[in-house]
Amino acid sequence: MKPAIHDLMKAGPVLGDGGYLIELERRGYVDSGSGREKVGTGKGSGQFTPEVAIENPDALRELHREFLRAGSQVLQALTFFGTREKLSRAGYGAQTEKINHAAVKLAREVAGDAALVAGSVSRTQLVEREGSGALDKARHHIAEQIRMLKDAGVDFLILETFFHLAEMKLALQCAAESGLPAIATMSFRPLTTQCADGHSPAECAKGMAEHGAIAVGANCEQEPERMLPLLRQMREAVKVPIAAQPAAFRTTPECNSFTRMPQFPDEMETIQVSRKAFTAFGRIAKAEGIRYVGGCCGCNPAYIRALAQGLEHSK
Ligand SMILES: [Zn+2]
Repeated sequence: MKPAIHDLMKAGPVLGDGGYLIELERRGYVDSGSGREKVGTGKGSGQFTPEVAIENPDALRELHREFLRAGSQVLQALTFFGTREKLSRAGYGAQTEKINHAAVKLAREVAGDAALVAGSVSRTQLVEREGSGALDKARHHIAEQIRMLKDAGVDFLILETFFHLAEMKLALQCAAESGLPAIATMSFRPLTTQCADGHSPAECAKGMAEHGAIAVGANCEQEPERMLPLLRQMREAVKVPIAAQPAAFRTTPECNSFTRMPQFPDEMETIQVSRKAFTAFGRIAKAEGIRYVGGCCGCNPAYIRALAQGLEHSK
């Protein structure tokens, strides 16, 4: 039997996988929404949704295989932005259940006994569009997606790319109700000193740990070097393990998030961070006791291999 995610993290740093949507967009299977609307505002309709799970399952299966071969101990089902709310705005609302189930089935099929399967759950974008009055609606959609992921048989959840701590807390409540363990990582945009509803990284870490997250941390928006300081603030604030999935795009002191960089989404090749930065990050993560280490947007399997080297995972 495969060890549970808690036990794996106890044994040493766990190597996750990379960013699916950006990589599959580059390969021609995911719609970035570019050209239709200003993307990256959080107000868009159709961009970066996971219908590839039903429309081009072979492309997704292949990327799972590549991450597994690179050393990933966890495969995330491509269920990111898979709430009925987000999928409805992309025209796939009626297929919400089908997409979530297909994504988990594909990840399971590739993982076999070699990796755990995590369900990825992200924010709804309702709070960005409508404000905190929309939190109840967001809860309904997130709870529904978590029920689908549980039915489909994920081993645990990764709640990621939440901008508002309030929305993350309600997602953690939904996870607790489902009985599935959850790793929780916030994304910091536009600042790295506070999340979108004004909480410092340390406050976010505490809030997530108090709401039952088995590991807390950050993902997306920054490259490893610029994410490290906020991970260290989280480390100081909590006793639960720290999780990190940085992006592979170079940001600046003036613009702390790649989705706000002018290069997003069609010129990101020009701000790509080298995979070597991820080998270095793996070394630091290992030395500093970060227990879940993966990559987010911009990290293809080459970056996960580089991370594995830094973590000294043999394969
Ligand atoms: Zn990302």
